[in-house]
Amino acid sequence: MMIGPVVNLLEVPPSELRFRTSSGRVSLDLVATIGERWRRRFERLRGPEDLDRWCSTVGLPAAAAATPGDLQDVRTLRAAIEALAVAAMEGRAYPEPAVTTVNDQAVRPDLAPWLTDEGSELRPGSHDRVRSTVARDAVDLFGGPFARKVRECSADDCALVYVDTTRGGTRRWCSMQACGNRTKVARHRGGPRTGREDGR
Ligand SMILES: [Zn+2]
Repeated sequence: MMIGPVVNLLEVPPSELRFRTSSGRVSLDLVATIGERWRRRFERLRGPEDLDRWCSTVGLPAAAAATPGDLQDVRTLRAAIEALAVAAMEGRAYPEPAVTTVNDQAVRPDLAPWLTDEGSELRPGSHDRVRSTVARDAVDLFGGPFARKVRECSADDCALVYVDTTRGGTRRWCSMQACGNRTKVARHRGGPRTGREDGR
Protein backbone atom coordinates (compact mmCIF):
# COMPACT_ATOMS: atom_id res chain seq x y z
CA MET A 1 0.00 0.00 0.00
CA MET A 2 1.19 3.50 -0.84
CA ILE A 3 1.09 6.04 1.95
CA GLY A 4 -0.02 9.41 0.59
CA PRO A 5 0.33 12.85 2.11
CA VAL A 6 -1.99 14.12 4.85
CA VAL A 7 -4.09 17.01 3.64
CA ASN A 8 -5.77 19.89 5.41
CA LEU A 9 -9.43 19.82 4.49
CA LEU A 10 -11.17 23.12 4.99
CA GLU A 11 -14.62 21.81 5.69
CA VAL A 12 -14.61 18.92 8.10
CA PRO A 13 -17.50 18.42 10.53
CA PRO A 14 -16.40 18.63 14.19
CA SER A 15 -17.38 14.99 14.75
CA GLU A 16 -14.78 13.96 12.15
CA LEU A 17 -12.08 15.86 14.01
CA ARG A 18 -12.73 14.01 17.25
CA PHE A 19 -9.74 11.91 18.25
CA ARG A 20 -10.01 8.13 18.01
CA THR A 21 -8.53 6.23 20.92
CA SER A 22 -9.62 2.63 20.42
CA SER A 23 -6.41 1.23 18.92
CA GLY A 24 -5.11 -0.17 22.18
CA ARG A 25 -1.73 1.60 21.82
CA VAL A 26 -0.91 5.26 22.12
CA SER A 27 1.43 5.08 19.13
CA LEU A 28 -1.42 3.82 16.94
CA ASP A 29 -3.79 6.39 18.43
CA LEU A 30 -1.37 8.95 17.01
CA VAL A 31 -1.74 7.41 13.55
CA ALA A 32 -5.51 7.78 14.01
CA THR A 33 -5.09 11.55 13.99
CA ILE A 34 -5.04 11.07 10.21
CA GLY A 35 -8.71 11.08 9.26
CA GLU A 36 -9.95 8.61 6.65
CA ARG A 37 -6.59 6.93 5.99
CA TRP A 38 -8.41 4.82 3.38
CA ARG A 39 -9.55 7.79 1.33
CA ARG A 40 -8.97 11.46 1.94
CA ARG A 41 -6.26 11.30 4.61
CA PHE A 42 -7.22 14.54 6.29
CA GLU A 43 -5.41 16.19 9.16
CA ARG A 44 -6.88 16.16 12.66
CA LEU A 45 -3.81 17.89 14.13
CA ARG A 46 -4.35 21.13 12.26
CA GLY A 47 -2.66 23.42 14.75
CA PRO A 48 -0.53 23.20 17.92
CA GLU A 49 -3.68 23.50 20.05
CA ASP A 50 -4.98 20.28 18.46
CA LEU A 51 -1.82 18.54 19.61
CA ASP A 52 -2.46 19.75 23.17
CA ARG A 53 -6.01 18.42 22.95
CA TRP A 54 -4.75 15.09 21.68
CA CYS A 55 -2.26 14.83 24.56
CA SER A 56 -4.96 15.32 27.15
CA THR A 57 -7.30 12.94 25.32
CA VAL A 58 -4.78 10.09 25.39
CA GLY A 59 -3.45 10.91 28.85
CA LEU A 60 0.00 12.27 28.02
CA PRO A 61 0.39 15.38 30.17
CA ALA A 62 2.31 18.15 28.42
CA ALA A 63 3.75 20.78 30.75
CA ALA A 64 3.60 23.59 28.20
CA ALA A 65 1.52 24.47 25.17
CA ALA A 66 2.66 22.90 21.92
CA THR A 67 4.57 25.04 19.43
CA PRO A 68 4.43 24.85 15.63
CA GLY A 69 7.75 22.98 15.83
CA ASP A 70 6.21 20.41 18.17
CA LEU A 71 3.38 19.93 15.70
CA GLN A 72 5.83 19.37 12.86
CA ASP A 73 7.88 16.92 14.91
CA VAL A 74 4.88 14.90 16.01
CA ARG A 75 3.67 14.67 12.41
CA THR A 76 7.10 13.36 11.41
CA LEU A 77 6.93 10.76 14.17
CA ARG A 78 3.40 9.87 13.13
CA ALA A 79 4.44 9.27 9.52
CA ALA A 80 7.18 6.94 10.72
CA ILE A 81 4.81 4.98 12.96
CA GLU A 82 2.29 4.66 10.14
CA ALA A 83 5.01 3.33 7.86
CA LEU A 84 5.98 0.75 10.49
CA ALA A 85 2.33 -0.26 10.96
CA VAL A 86 1.77 -0.72 7.23
CA ALA A 87 4.98 -2.74 6.90
CA ALA A 88 3.94 -4.89 9.88
CA MET A 89 0.53 -5.56 8.37
CA GLU A 90 2.02 -6.42 4.99
CA GLY A 91 4.71 -8.62 6.51
CA ARG A 92 7.49 -6.49 5.07
CA ALA A 93 10.73 -5.35 6.68
CA TYR A 94 10.44 -2.03 8.47
CA PRO A 95 11.58 0.88 6.29
CA GLU A 96 14.93 2.21 7.46
CA PRO A 97 13.98 5.93 7.64
CA ALA A 98 10.96 5.14 9.81
CA VAL A 99 13.06 3.02 12.15
CA THR A 100 15.60 5.83 12.45
CA THR A 101 12.95 8.47 13.16
CA VAL A 102 11.34 6.39 15.90
CA ASN A 103 14.66 5.39 17.47
CA ASP A 104 16.00 8.95 17.42
CA GLN A 105 12.97 10.06 19.40
CA ALA A 106 12.78 7.04 21.70
CA VAL A 107 16.37 7.47 22.86
CA ARG A 108 15.42 10.77 24.49
CA PRO A 109 13.87 11.05 27.98
CA ASP A 110 10.18 10.22 28.15
CA LEU A 111 7.44 11.28 30.58
CA ALA A 112 8.36 9.99 34.02
CA PRO A 113 6.07 7.69 35.97
CA TRP A 114 5.10 8.97 39.39
CA LEU A 115 3.81 7.02 42.36
CA THR A 116 0.69 8.45 44.02
CA ASP A 117 -1.67 7.44 46.83
CA GLU A 118 -4.04 6.00 44.28
CA GLY A 119 -1.60 4.30 41.95
CA SER A 120 0.65 5.98 39.45
CA GLU A 121 0.52 8.69 36.84
CA LEU A 122 2.78 10.35 34.33
CA ARG A 123 4.51 13.56 35.33
CA PRO A 124 3.82 16.46 33.00
CA GLY A 125 6.77 17.10 30.71
CA SER A 126 7.87 18.79 27.52
CA HIS A 127 6.44 17.83 24.14
CA ASP A 128 9.82 16.28 23.44
CA ARG A 129 9.15 13.89 26.33
CA VAL A 130 5.62 13.31 25.06
CA ARG A 131 6.97 12.28 21.66
CA SER A 132 9.54 10.06 23.30
CA THR A 133 6.79 8.31 25.25
CA VAL A 134 4.90 7.67 22.02
CA ALA A 135 8.07 6.54 20.22
CA ARG A 136 8.95 4.12 23.03
CA ASP A 137 5.47 2.66 22.77
CA ALA A 138 6.13 2.15 19.07
CA VAL A 139 9.48 0.45 19.79
CA ASP A 140 7.76 -1.86 22.26
CA LEU A 141 4.93 -2.60 19.85
CA PHE A 142 6.84 -3.10 16.61
CA GLY A 143 9.77 -4.81 18.27
CA GLY A 144 7.61 -7.28 20.16
CA PRO A 145 5.13 -10.10 19.60
CA PHE A 146 2.18 -7.76 19.13
CA ALA A 147 3.67 -6.43 15.88
CA ARG A 148 2.10 -9.42 14.16
CA LYS A 149 -1.26 -8.47 15.67
CA VAL A 150 -1.47 -5.01 14.15
CA ARG A 151 -4.61 -4.86 12.02
CA GLU A 152 -6.69 -2.47 10.03
CA CYS A 153 -10.43 -2.25 10.65
CA SER A 154 -12.36 -4.52 8.28
CA ALA A 155 -15.09 -2.01 7.52
CA ASP A 156 -14.97 -0.77 3.93
CA ASP A 157 -15.18 2.83 5.04
CA CYS A 158 -12.67 2.70 7.88
CA ALA A 159 -8.93 2.18 8.11
CA LEU A 160 -8.25 2.61 11.80
CA VAL A 161 -5.25 0.58 12.88
CA TYR A 162 -5.38 -1.35 16.14
CA VAL A 163 -3.74 -4.21 18.00
CA ASP A 164 -5.76 -7.39 18.17
CA THR A 165 -5.28 -8.62 21.72
CA THR A 166 -8.07 -11.22 21.62
CA ARG A 167 -6.76 -14.67 22.40
CA GLY A 168 -7.93 -16.20 19.15
CA GLY A 169 -6.99 -13.17 17.04
CA THR A 170 -10.63 -12.63 16.11
CA ARG A 171 -11.06 -8.88 16.43
CA ARG A 172 -12.10 -7.47 13.05
CA TRP A 173 -13.21 -3.95 13.86
CA CYS A 174 -11.67 -0.86 15.39
CA SER A 175 -14.80 -0.75 17.52
CA MET A 176 -17.64 -3.23 17.75
CA GLN A 177 -19.99 -0.40 18.74
CA ALA A 178 -19.25 1.56 15.61
CA CYS A 179 -17.86 -0.36 12.65
CA GLY A 180 -18.83 -3.84 13.80
CA ASN A 181 -22.50 -3.08 14.29
CA ARG A 182 -22.69 -0.79 11.29
CA THR A 183 -21.34 -3.46 8.98
CA LYS A 184 -23.54 -6.18 10.45
CA VAL A 185 -26.65 -4.05 10.14
CA ALA A 186 -25.79 -3.14 6.55
CA ARG A 187 -25.21 -6.77 5.60
CA HIS A 188 -28.47 -7.75 7.25
CA ARG A 189 -30.36 -5.15 5.28
CA GLY A 190 -28.39 -5.81 2.15
CA GLY A 191 -28.28 -2.10 1.64
CA PRO A 192 -25.75 0.68 1.85
CA ARG A 193 -23.96 1.30 5.09
CA THR A 194 -25.30 3.92 7.37
CA GLY A 195 -24.74 5.50 10.74
CA ARG A 196 -21.14 6.67 10.67
CA GLU A 197 -20.64 7.21 14.35
CA ASP A 198 -17.01 6.46 14.88
CA GLY A 199 -13.92 5.02 13.32
CA ARG A 200 -12.10 5.80 10.09
ZN1 LIG B 1 -13.50 0.87 12.01
